[in-house]
Parts: sequence; structure tokens; C-alpha cells
Amino acid sequence: MNLFKQPRPTAKAEHLQQIKAWTQELLDLPAEVPISISQLQCHEPGCPPMETVIAVMSQPPQTFKIHAAAGDVTLADLQGAIAPQGLESNIGSLQ
Ligand SMILES: [Zn+2]
Repeated sequence: MNLFKQPRPTAKAEHLQQIKAWTQELLDLPAEVPISISQLQCHEPGCPPMETVIAVMSQPPQTFKIHAAAGDVTLADLQGAIAPQGLESNIGSLQ
């Protein structure tokens, strides 16, 4: 029986897998396109100390930055990072 919960400062592997799965789904990527997730320190004022960079090795490659640690990235964060680029042409045609 394990009575002690160990806090983990780094994102869990399962969560990184989840972020990759969301990215793949939102971008409608083929399964063979590699996605790499890294955490970088952010020095911008008002930002959390860590930010998550999602690099999609498609042609051309795409990079998305989320101003949160990888462990805190939610589906909504990801949609917010990806949507402005993908929806730009739709928004333009509605006006
Ligand atoms: Zn930042």
C-alpha cells in the first residue's frame, strides 16, 4: 500500500502523449508525422516561468507555443494556439 503521493514537477509521459494526440486530431495529421513537445523557460513579463513548445514535423513544419508548463496544457489551450492560424481564412471569408 502506498500512502505517500509523490509530487512530480515535470509533466507525466501520459500527459505528453495526450497533448500529441490532441495536436494530431486538431491538425488532422497522419499518424506518421512526428510531434515533439518541449518545455522552455519564458522570460516575458506576466508569463508563467515555463512554456510548452509543440513542434510538428509536417511539410512545412509547424510550431505552436503555449504559455503554460506542459503538465498544465489543456485541450482548450491547444485549440487556442492552433485555431488562429487554421481559422484565419474562414474568418476572412465571413466578413
Ligand atoms: Zn511567455
